[in-house]
Amino acid sequence: MAPIPKTMFGVVIPRPGGPDVLEYKTGLPVPSLGEGQILIRNEYVGVNYIDTYFRTGLYKPPSPSSNSNHPSTNGSNDTTSPYPLITGKEAAGTITASSHPSYPVGSRVVYLADNTYAQYTLLTSPLTQATILPASLTPETACAAYLQGLTALTFIREAAGITQQLGISEGPWTLVHAAAGGTGSMLVQILAVMGAKIIATAGGKQKCELAKKLGAGWVVDSSLPQEEVIRQVKEITNNKGVDVIFDGVGKATFGTVDLDVVARKGTIIVFGNASGAVEPVDLFRLMPKNIKIMRPSMPGYITTPEEKETFTSELFDLLVTGKIHANIHQVYPLKNVAQAHIDLESRKTTGKLLLKVE
Ligand code: NDP
Repeated sequence: MAPIPKTMFGVVIPRPGGPDVLEYKTGLPVPSLGEGQILIRNEYVGVNYIDTYFRTGLYKPPSPSSNSNHPSTNGSNDTTSPYPLITGKEAAGTITASSHPSYPVGSRVVYLADNTYAQYTLLTSPLTQATILPASLTPETACAAYLQGLTALTFIREAAGITQQLGISEGPWTLVHAAAGGTGSMLVQILAVMGAKIIATAGGKQKCELAKKLGAGWVVDSSLPQEEVIRQVKEITNNKGVDVIFDGVGKATFGTVDLDVVARKGTIIVFGNASGAVEPVDLFRLMPKNIKIMRPSMPGYITTPEEKETFTSELFDLLVTGKIHANIHQVYPLKNVAQAHIDLESRKTTGKLLLKVE
């Protein structure tokens, strides 16, 4: 194992803004190891839409004291401002230092954290954050599937309450928006394994074809006028409507498409803001069809080592048995992270975007 340097490279956000605020820097301090912690040399970092929310300031960054890779915790004197910030929520790599008996140095892991856009990341709660990879899973595949796969699994199991293997005829009608995207493609594949009736929406012919290949029974092109999208979804369900809607698009779809196409007693699971944050909702809008609305966050379902273990095992099993696949759109060098954000936000991508840490 190579010795651990005192400084590292990484991507720092000095202030909220567009992709141009993402600064690749060298000379950042390598976090120092505390009791029960592990230090990872990252190989791949996942790009997720949430990274853009922390970049723009839509989501408030964690405070420096709770952010173990924050530059100011080891460098500048300002311990109050969350900026400069290292963001990034998932990565895979090799443990280079460990004071945790379950995580030996040299093991390859995939993990969730708050600051993965860096050469090294310190994990303060490895049992709830990191999983040692089986030999059958490469760091690249694990990183490409982890956060979005866990999101899909926990939302299907916990939020939607779909726990049984369903038959195609009796399963609920489900609708997945942005179905060719990273999270959408995981939702479609896992729902397909379970035998749900899946309607996928995606922007354009190519994305719709991909959603179909991933296992959607029906596809609707979301670049059509919304009245047409609504008409097609209703027609597909024989006017019954959709029992469970998974919506990571947010503002553009929630108040219009979702509330219209949801079935009586249906559930709308709105979990993201790709088109902007959903406006506050008048509760009376739930009354005509007795519907439920949820706004879950994946980390809220992975708070204990047991929860992490349960969902990670199921996800790994789906991957190694080939029932689902990680679809990698592109691997960008860490230095080119701004281009990855530009591509993700311009709706040009399908599947997962990764950063390679060289
Ligand atoms: P995606 O790969 O799905 O990329 C976003 C997709 O959203 C685009 O490709 C596009 O697909 C669609 N989209 C619709 N409207 C817009 C718009 N105005 N601008 C940009 N994209 C738009 O990203 P992720 O899989 O990383 O994330 C998807 C959503 O899931 C995000 O909202 C994210 O925040 C959320 N999420 C939430 C989690 C949670 O814990 N709550 C966890 C993980 C993800 P198309 O062209 O087909 O419309």
